[in-house]
Amino acid sequence: MVLARSLGAALVTGASQGIGKAVAMRLAFDGYKVALNDLAHKREQLEAIAEDIDQKFGSGTFVIPADVSQEEQVKQMISSTSKALDGLDVVVANAGIVGLLKPITDISMKEWDQIHQVNTRGVFMCYKWAAREMIARGSRGRIIGASSNVGKQGVPNAAAYVSSKFGIRGLTQSAALELGKYGITVNAYAPGPIETPMLKDILDDPSTLPKVESLGLKSEIGQPEDIASIVSYLASKEAHYITGQTICVNGGMYFD
Ligand code: NAD
Repeated sequence: MVLARSLGAALVTGASQGIGKAVAMRLAFDGYKVALNDLAHKREQLEAIAEDIDQKFGSGTFVIPADVSQEEQVKQMISSTSKALDGLDVVVANAGIVGLLKPITDISMKEWDQIHQVNTRGVFMCYKWAAREMIARGSRGRIIGASSNVGKQGVPNAAAYVSSKFGIRGLTQSAALELGKYGITVNAYAPGPIETPMLKDILDDPSTLPKVESLGLKSEIGQPEDIASIVSYLASKEAHYITGQTICVNGGMYFD
């Protein structure tokens, strides 16, 4: 269902759960038509969220499963979203994976590549195709990516994840400098520990517990809605003068 009156069209990747779901719900609440992406096997969860959004806000939804680590799928996801929702104003490249906690001496190249394929390559491709579409449509859009607290301060036993999240900051700065002339802003969020299935998987795995200590997860755990609210602001008109930033949302766990 797509209604005529709206703030514009937003796409959120990794939207079937956790932070992505909260961001999608918040953007729908704000008045955006929302495209919901996740891996193909999450289609049912995406459809349930779309139904919930349609019932609560009636703002319009589009379910678009795709693997963000595959360029052809990202290209298709962007173009079909833009067609289905008649525009593309906000893209939130949220999808990410953490992998197993291990010291660098034990990380295989396969594990390294898997994490970077989704967390850096995937976000890069979302930025690239979102930017192309926004430029082509003359949309003064908002591109927003997922970094992390550990994209600003390294921790042991997560080198592939940490480096992928540091990468998002550089990518975000370069993209912001290039896209400013089109009126497009590019920013990222850097969450501390947030209560999502990703964090639960880490905390519930007894084999990772000794390593979890080293991550410094002692501060208060935040909620996905804490991230959704900063995304809502970055997507808003008022945030037009903020670009190239990776913004900590971490309850004071770490200061830049
Ligand atoms: P999550 O694991 O709960 O949800 C991530 C979603 O991304 C999942 O639904 C998953 O299916 C999807 N996904 C994974 N690979 C994908 C792919 N190739 N294509 C499309 N979708 C894919 O994670 P979350 O905690 O909600 O985290 C969201 C983002 O925030 C991630 O980038 C994560 O690294 C980052 N982050 C999370 C925390 C935290 O404490 N939860 C902290 C810092 C940063």
